[in-house]
Amino acid sequence: LRCILLNPGPVSLSDAVRKAAVSTDLCHREPEYFELQDEVRSGLLDVYGCSPSSWASVLLGGSGTTALEAMLTSLLPRDACLLVIENGVYGERISRIARIHGIEHEAIEHPWTDAIDFEQVAEALSNGLFTHVAAVHHETTTGRLNDVQTLAKMCEHHGVQLLLDAVSSFGAEHIPFDSPALAAVAGTANKCLHGIPGLCFVIGRRSALQNSAEPPRSLSMHLPLWLEKQDQQGTPFTPSVNAVLALREALRELERHGGWEGRRARYRDLAGQVRNGLAAMSVEPLLGENESSCVLNAYRLPEGFTYDRVHDGLKQWGFVIYAGQGSLVAEMFRISTMGDITRYDLERLLAAIETVFKR
Ligand SMILES: *Cc1c(COP(=O)(O)O)cnc(C)c1O
Repeated sequence: LRCILLNPGPVSLSDAVRKAAVSTDLCHREPEYFELQDEVRSGLLDVYGCSPSSWASVLLGGSGTTALEAMLTSLLPRDACLLVIENGVYGERISRIARIHGIEHEAIEHPWTDAIDFEQVAEALSNGLFTHVAAVHHETTTGRLNDVQTLAKMCEHHGVQLLLDAVSSFGAEHIPFDSPALAAVAGTANKCLHGIPGLCFVIGRRSALQNSAEPPRSLSMHLPLWLEKQDQQGTPFTPSVNAVLALREALRELERHGGWEGRRARYRDLAGQVRNGLAAMSVEPLLGENESSCVLNAYRLPEGFTYDRVHDGLKQWGFVIYAGQGSLVAEMFRISTMGDITRYDLERLLAAIETVFKR
């Protein structure tokens, strides 16, 4: 059974991207690979018009969490003090990474359905102890798009650097690359960029990458090592060659479809279709449209329905949806509209949901 994936990555692929992944065999020490690597690295910078003189993209094998862990462990110097903003699973994951690596940190914890409390952030930053802030851009737990523009401004004001988990927003939402406070973002190939899993990346300011943790906290995740080799048309270890082939194709598609703004418009249209269709069946969204990302929306399960019943019913119709996390698991389900899907697919989804809810 080939399903339409409405989970937040991996996504349904276009035929061209799927074919590109297995299009050829490449040795990662040959010039053909390095041309590919160069094209993908500069393609990633081009998505948001980041100048290669001040920004660098570093490709890494692994999932989104790998990119996140590499960004935090590499770009937080040994004497750094980190403020973590938590309003969901992924914010909490940042604190967990800091704890594991013995990075000095403190967290501002919000209930998962809440927006960032900027008064609390300003108060924390005003003590002058923090050197860095880490936050999640699109908190996939609830579908909330955190206001990182305001956060970046606040970081600028207090002279601290901002590290962003943009794993589920890179390629489809606005990211404040023009803020001098923004030091780096972590991203992945298999969410809004529509590539295959196994490849992730960090886009960082070259100045931040030069002021990294010394001695390193890791060998295989230390970004300056990857950066140095990739800048010299090299690679320290075996890269995920096939995922890089797929990402090149996916980036070309993104450009043809109007870049990140084109993708955002597309996602907004598709997410709106689902939202309106569900509203007609009296299914309520967890958050308002103005606080939600274009990428994924969370909905309350109708009375008397368990997630498993809805999930299993829809899977029979060829759709994979996604459960809630943690304490929200019994209350909600999530639908992402990333990937190579159409309005027609979602019309069929809504018809299937109606059937499942009628039983
Ligand atoms: C998906 C996701 C991650 C990382 O997930 P992986 O399973 O490691 O790829 C991190 N942060 C956010 C916001 C995400 O949506």
